[in-house]
Amino acid sequence: MSKTADQPATSTQCIWAGEESSLLQGATQVPVVHSVGYGYKDVDEWQAVALGKKPGHIYGRNTNPTVHAFEQKVRQLENAEAVTSAATGMGVISSTLFALLSPGQRVVSVKDTYGGTNVLFTEFLPKFKIDVTLCETTDHQQIESEVARGCDVLYLESPTNPTTKVVDIARLAAAGKKAGATVIVDNTFATPVNQQPLHLGADLVLHSATKFLGGHADALGGVVCGEKQLIQSVYHYREINGATLDPMAAYLLLRGMKTLSLRIRQQNSNAMAVAQFLENHPAIAQVFYPGLESHSGHQIARQQMHGFGGMLSFMLKRDHFDTVREFVPRLKFAHAAANLGAVETTIGPPATTSHVECTAEERAAMGIPESLIRYSAGIEEIDDLIGDLDQALQPFV
Ligand SMILES: *Cc1c(COP(=O)(O)O)cnc(C)c1O
Repeated sequence: MSKTADQPATSTQCIWAGEESSLLQGATQVPVVHSVGYGYKDVDEWQAVALGKKPGHIYGRNTNPTVHAFEQKVRQLENAEAVTSAATGMGVISSTLFALLSPGQRVVSVKDTYGGTNVLFTEFLPKFKIDVTLCETTDHQQIESEVARGCDVLYLESPTNPTTKVVDIARLAAAGKKAGATVIVDNTFATPVNQQPLHLGADLVLHSATKFLGGHADALGGVVCGEKQLIQSVYHYREINGATLDPMAAYLLLRGMKTLSLRIRQQNSNAMAVAQFLENHPAIAQVFYPGLESHSGHQIARQQMHGFGGMLSFMLKRDHFDTVREFVPRLKFAHAAANLGAVETTIGPPATTSHVECTAEERAAMGIPESLIRYSAGIEEIDDLIGDLDQALQPFV
């Protein structure tokens, strides 16, 4: 990302942003503050802090200095007015939706949202008489016409999991705005290094910080940024539901974020090289990666992303789940696991990760073939990743 006069470049922000007010007694690193309570002998000062008239902390469920530093770093990277966090990505997504929606209101979203988000849409929001309409993910006309029929929240995700579909955020945010909707974008796959939804017209941008932001698969967290009033409502609900980000997790996420820009650069480049290698491999039927010209959303991705991300998926020509069973253990440099976005390459079929709750028939109906493999490119040397894939694919040629 480029640098402007009053704002340092993304890589510099990853390292410096948000920390200063949480540093202690000359420490160069943000401390992990485990204290639950914050003491004030001056009762007037205590009250001023409690009422939000003075900066400071009262109680760990509400705010914490380590969590504050993490939040501020993400806020500055997303170039947002305000920020709040939660214990997980789902903590942030559910807090945001439950804080902003009321019975009788309407959500428009897409079919390919993250599995947990989809469960909120299909199981939990309807219990509170909130109408949810899920459109074909890349059918922009359908989404626009549903939004025009009346919409309180337009919820988008791009690129999606696991087939990396891309939606035109600027176009749909404009439609949402026209209808008076709050436009929310899950930016987990792209990160602020590759995509800044607020610049594209979204009102709120949120992340599972568990994935690329933290980057080391050792801490759970969620974060949401945007306009002050919206964030204040989300924060208010989250302080009450209690899904607070733990200070130790906040520290790990903060530490991971120092290398975010470096990691994403390497992951962008590794994913692109892996996608190109696989696209030309005789055992592979199809590769889904927004950086490939063969990808249906490539032109939109070129316009709205600075890099195409570390996530791709591919299907083998031998399209059976047995193929996956045989292929997955052959890879030496890939964890077979449910997470993504870490420094290590991680793979998994949707049948055991994002779409574990669905039957094979349901997955087929959603356009997810049984031999699909989700590949989260790590930061390893690219020749090692390609060599590993090449040997693992040998029996399938
Ligand atoms: C993992 C993920 C989530 C949920 O985050 P958790 O931290 O696991 O709760 C939400 N959205 C996307 C795109 C994800 O990949």
